[in-house]
Amino acid sequence: MADYPELALARAHWRYQPQQDCLDGKVILITGAGDGIGRAAARTFASYGATVVLLGRTRSKLESVSDWIGEATGREAVIVPCELSAFGDENATALGNAIGEAFGRLDGLLHNASLLGPKVPIAHYPTSEWQNVFQVNVHATFLLTRAMLPLLEAADAASVVLTSSSVGRKGRAYWGAYAASKFAVEGLMQILADEYEHNGRLRFNSLNPGGTRTAMRAAAYPAENPDDVPTPETHMDLYLYLMSDASRTVSGRQLDARDWSPVD
Ligand code: NDP
Repeated sequence: MADYPELALARAHWRYQPQQDCLDGKVILITGAGDGIGRAAARTFASYGATVVLLGRTRSKLESVSDWIGEATGREAVIVPCELSAFGDENATALGNAIGEAFGRLDGLLHNASLLGPKVPIAHYPTSEWQNVFQVNVHATFLLTRAMLPLLEAADAASVVLTSSSVGRKGRAYWGAYAASKFAVEGLMQILADEYEHNGRLRFNSLNPGGTRTAMRAAAYPAENPDDVPTPETHMDLYLYLMSDASRTVSGRQLDARDWSPVD
């Protein structure tokens, strides 16, 4: 199995031990795949057998993740350099067409890319920043999901995971558009889970990774020692669970990486 030191280290402490081939044959699209949690998810999913489509705004970061996957797994990753701040209907449609032509279906979609925005009181929150955070965190998530639905429905069992946050479940002062946008993400997940409740092959869940050692965490908590914060790989058992058929019957749930257990 393809591996790297952070993944091997974290796996020893996972509460859930997935089968090594749990994502074999699956095609999974990950947003924000060039860094942080998205990069860890991309490498982990590929290590467990998936073919991954990597969307992010910095081409060099996507190429570096793709290079690792090629060398470690022998499978080719697809990269999609894309600025979600400017993501519209046409981009979503074009991406849906490209994935449809290449694979004919999509087995997993991890909405991970997100903007933190400024941490200031609402009274001083800049309008343009509010709009941009909502564009990336909510509007692009809606557009991408809608465009991918036909491909997700073409899969035997597809999983859509929307990344939330503690402040998307209980509001907190100064978290502004980021917190409000995560509430919207939770709402979108619940609507989709309800709309597809009787579909049986397409599921939607939200996931709060909790404090994780990434650039976003460092920006949100600049005084914190990063060594005190779990690595992204720490949570990858939950990501694997949600993307694999082990969670086939799980939909509409709000999961927390620090406190979850697989449903039998
Ligand atoms: P990072 O900021 O470290 O990484 C985010 C990734 O998304 C980067 O690869 C970034 O690209 C990409 N991205 C950001 N904005 C855009 C955009 N406009 N267009 C395209 N790609 C974009 O974040 P994390 O890994 O920490 O967070 C991942 C998810 O987890 C987010 O949804 C976040 O809200 C959530 N989360 C994180 C927590 C934490 O403690 N880290 C806690 C709770 C939730 P680039 O690298 O090129 O800038």
